[in-house]
Parts: sequence; C-alpha cells; structure tokens
Amino acid sequence: MKSRAPQAKHYNRPSTATTILAISVGVFVVGMTIASMFARSVAVQNEIDFTARLDQNVVAVQSQLAGELQGYNTVLRAAAAQFAARPDTTAEDWTKFYQTMNIDRQYPALFGLGYAEYLRGGGAAEEYGAWPEGVRDAYVRISYLEPQNEENTSSIGYDMFLEARRHEAIQLAINSGEPIMTAPVKLVQDKLAGSRYGSLIYLALYDGPSSTVPERQENVKGFVYLVFRPHDVMTSIVSNTPRLHDNSVVTLKNKSGNEELYRGDFLTKPDGEGRMASRDIATNHQTWTVTIAGRDQAISELYGPLGLFFLGGIVSAFVGFIVYAVLMYRLRRVERQYEEDVEQTKSELLALASHQLRTPASGVKQYLGILRDGSFGSLTPAQQSLADKAYATNERQLHVINDLLYVSKAEAGQLHMEPIICNLTEIVRDVISHMTAQAKQKDIEVVFKSSRAYKVVADDRYVTMIIENLISNAIKYSHPGSKVYVTLRYRAGAVHCAVRDSGVGVDMKDHERIFNKFDRVPNVLSHHEGGSGLGLYLARQLARGHGGDILIESTLDKGSTFTLVLPKVAMIDHDILVAAKDKTL
Ligand code: ADP
Repeated sequence: MKSRAPQAKHYNRPSTATTILAISVGVFVVGMTIASMFARSVAVQNEIDFTARLDQNVVAVQSQLAGELQGYNTVLRAAAAQFAARPDTTAEDWTKFYQTMNIDRQYPALFGLGYAEYLRGGGAAEEYGAWPEGVRDAYVRISYLEPQNEENTSSIGYDMFLEARRHEAIQLAINSGEPIMTAPVKLVQDKLAGSRYGSLIYLALYDGPSSTVPERQENVKGFVYLVFRPHDVMTSIVSNTPRLHDNSVVTLKNKSGNEELYRGDFLTKPDGEGRMASRDIATNHQTWTVTIAGRDQAISELYGPLGLFFLGGIVSAFVGFIVYAVLMYRLRRVERQYEEDVEQTKSELLALASHQLRTPASGVKQYLGILRDGSFGSLTPAQQSLADKAYATNERQLHVINDLLYVSKAEAGQLHMEPIICNLTEIVRDVISHMTAQAKQKDIEVVFKSSRAYKVVADDRYVTMIIENLISNAIKYSHPGSKVYVTLRYRAGAVHCAVRDSGVGVDMKDHERIFNKFDRVPNVLSHHEGGSGLGLYLARQLARGHGGDILIESTLDKGSTFTLVLPKVAMIDHDILVAAKDKTL
C-alpha cells in the first residue's frame, strides 16, 4: 500500500483568490480611470469658465475706465465751451462753472479742473507770473485750478510747458485741437517722492481760426485741463466691482512706458496668480493695459476636480473592496460545498466498499479455517503452511476492512458508545495475549506488570480496539528482539495507558501527521509491515469520543510512547455517567 492515499482534488485556491484580487484591483483601476477622466474634464471646463470670468472682469474694468475717461472729455469740452462763450472768463467764473457742473460729485476721482494760459515768452518767467524761474520761449502757466484746496492752490503759476511729458501732450493738444493725455507724470501737487503717477488731459483754446495746424499754433491762447490719478479712478472702479476681489491681482499699466498706474492685490492664497486676462484702453493718445490675474479656486475645493478625483478614488476603492468581499465570500461557499460533497462521496464510497468487501472476505476466512483445521482431510506440511499464510493474510485484510468500516461509521456519526464499567488491566492483558503470536514472530516481548484493577466507564469494545492498535503498532515498528512496555496509572481524574517501545520512532515534524486518515510515514520497517494508515486516526477518534485522547512522545530511531488518556468516567452519555458514579471505581 502506498504511504499516502490519494487526496481529494481541491480547487486551485491561490490562483482563484489571485484572480479575484486582480478583478477587484481592475474594478478599482477602472473606477480611478473614470474618476480621473471626469475630474480632468471638470478641470478643463473649470479652466474655460474661469478664463471666461477673468475676461468678463477685464472687459468690465475696461468699459468702466473708458466710460470715466469719456466723462472727463465731456467735462473738458464743456469747459472749452465756457471759454468760447466768455473769452474773458475770470477765476470766479471758473469756480462758478466748476460748481455748476457739480464735478466733484460726478467725478470724485478727479483731482482738479484747471485753466492754463499759453504765454508766448521771451522774457523771464516771473514777468509772466510763472515758475520755476528762467527765461523760456513760451509758458503754459496754471492760472485757475479747482477745487481750491491747498495742493491745487500751491501749483498756481507752474509752467507746465517745462516738463517733457506735459510739453509733448500740450504740443499735441495744440496741433490736434483734441483732448490729449500726458504719459504718466509726477504731479506738482505731490511734494512727496514716490507718489503715485498722475495724468493730465489738455484741450487747447484758440483765439482765432483753428482749422489747420499752423492756424492752431498761431492762435492758441490757453488750455482747459484735467488732473487725476489713474490709481484713484481704478480704486473707485474696483471697489464698485466686488467680484474683482476674489483672489486676484488687478493692475493698470501705461503700455508704452510700462509704468504701473494701479495695483490691487486681493490674493487670499500665495499662489493665486495662475491665469491672466488683459485688455488695452486707447484713449486721448495714450494706451493703458488692464490685467487681472488669478487662480481658479475650484481646483482645491472639495467639489473641484481634485475633490472629485479623491472622491472617485474612495468610491472606486469601496466598490473594488465590495467586489472582492462578495467574490471571496462566494468562493468560500463554493469551496465549502465542494469539500462537503467530496467528504460525503468519500464516506459513501468507504461505507459501500467496506460492506461489499467484508462479506466475501469473511466467507474466505471460514473456508480457509475449515481447510486449515483438517476437517476435509489432513494437509501435507507444505499445504498446511500455505493455508496458515492465506489465513493470516485474510485476517489482516479483514482487519483493514473493519477499520474502514469503523471510519466510515465514525464519519457518518454512527458510532454508538455503550459505556460500561470496564477493567483496563484485564483489557490490556487480553490484548497482549491475543498478540502473543504476532510478538513472537518478531521475537518481541510485551511487558505488562500491573496487578491493580484500573477501572473506567467506557465502551470496552472501542477501548480494546485502541489498545490493540497501540500495542500492534509498537510491535510492528520495533526491531526484533526488543521489548514493548505497557503501563497503567491514574493521573488527574484519568487513566493513562502508555505503550512504550524502542523502535524506529517518529520524527517530531510528523507527530501530528500520523494521526491523519490514510497518512503513513515511511520508516525502515513500514515496507515489511502492512498497514492502512487508519489505525491511529480511528484510535484517536474513539479516544476523543470518550472525552480522552492519544498522546505521542517519540524520537526518531530511539522509540515512541503512545499514551491513551481516558477519563475515569467517559463523557458520553449522561444517564450512564450517573449510573457509573454510584459504583466505586
Ligand atoms: P498503520 O500502522 O496502519 O500504517 P497507523 O495509523 O496505526 O497506521 O499509524 C500511522 C503511522 O504512524 C505509521 O505508518 C507509522 O509510520 C507511524 N507509527 C505508528 N505507531 C508507531 C510506533 N509505535 N513507532 C513508530 N512509528 C509509528
């Protein structure tokens, strides 16, 4: 017989579990891909929306700024009309005009509205009431300036023709007859260094025909002009437009010189300047550029693309986990069902085979017995020897069949215990005497010295089977000429029946394995000795069925001690336990 009976075929669990894991990871990856694609498209859409919003904001600033400057031009033209109507407009007239126009209310960002005389010079500045001093060809002297606050009053008399940017704008204003704005300048009103840039818009007044450039140059008599700071205009526009304050930077620059006329920093996060939109405003011969820079807030918010991505990740992981859990649960169920089916088939097969084998084998035993006993005539010594061998072989066969039968019964839960008070001393003695022939064949002595009656409440048939198996194994796996010792003793409410041999022993790693069904551990003697690998399995089942066990102590090549532990009162049937306790054990 092979050392190991074929095992029931199992599912290839590791590869099935790996497939399930792969499917779950696949679900997760697909989920993540969808989530990232979705997040990406949301991010792209957000970017588009955000850029469009920036653009709208820039256009809003641009149109408000253009509107304000248009208003300034209207004021200038009205002022020019005043001079046209009254060429000898006095300072008082000018003040009245300023008040009538309600300019400080309508244009709060306007710094001043003035009149400057054009004076063809040749003489010293002071002769014309102009400053700074010096002798120049022409002067454009500030004559009236409203409102008459401290800064404006202090700038009366200033010759604006002196400074290059003003000069340039004034020249253009003369030649064009249109309102012309200076490039950014430092205002005379601003005494402090580093003050914000100012701008002036000049509209020339003529004293005579002004259709051609020479006529204009000939007849120019002065200018109405406006003073303002682009910064003030922008501040009022931005404060009137709250949506500009949302994590952005708004700037206004002079396009040609790149001077910064306004900067409003409304960043709430340091890395706010992600995208920008800008527009040019071309007015009064100057071009300004409005720029708004900002970063889309949605990107970092929970409902933004990043939030969606993480949410997608969590959902994908969750779905992946659910898929994994459900598939593993189903796999486990299928496996359990499969194992149960296999076990049941095995048991049925075992029961069927052993029943079918037992009847003919028992018949053979009877016939051989009759033949061997000489009931049909005496046998020659050779015939006798053959008949004896056939009988012994048949007995071993029956033994295995019986083991199979008991195993199948045990597995079907059909082993019925009928405990009685039994004397283990007697049982051991009987078993030893039954085995004398087997022991003698190997020249082995089984030593058992106990005279005391060790009593237990147990099923004596099964106890006998267990002890038979232990002693039979001890003989089988001992070397010829050695001794097997059987001892009985009480220990902690149980009786220990130890069978010790000095045979081949069992390696430590196999101590548990030898109790498995059909498991035989090959050793130097197992080739000569028959066996099914069922004996110890059955013995342990029976011992445990009594609430006891079989213990092993063994060293390879040194020998083994197998100990049957039986509770004094087998824990099987309550009624019998009560009955047994009444008697003294
Ligand atoms: P069998 O003896 O029919 O093979 P068992 O279930 O009784 O089956 O024993 C299982 C295995 O345990 C044996 O094949 C043998 O390797 C080992 N074994 C059992 N008893 C002993 C012993 N006393 N000494 C050494 N090995 C043993």
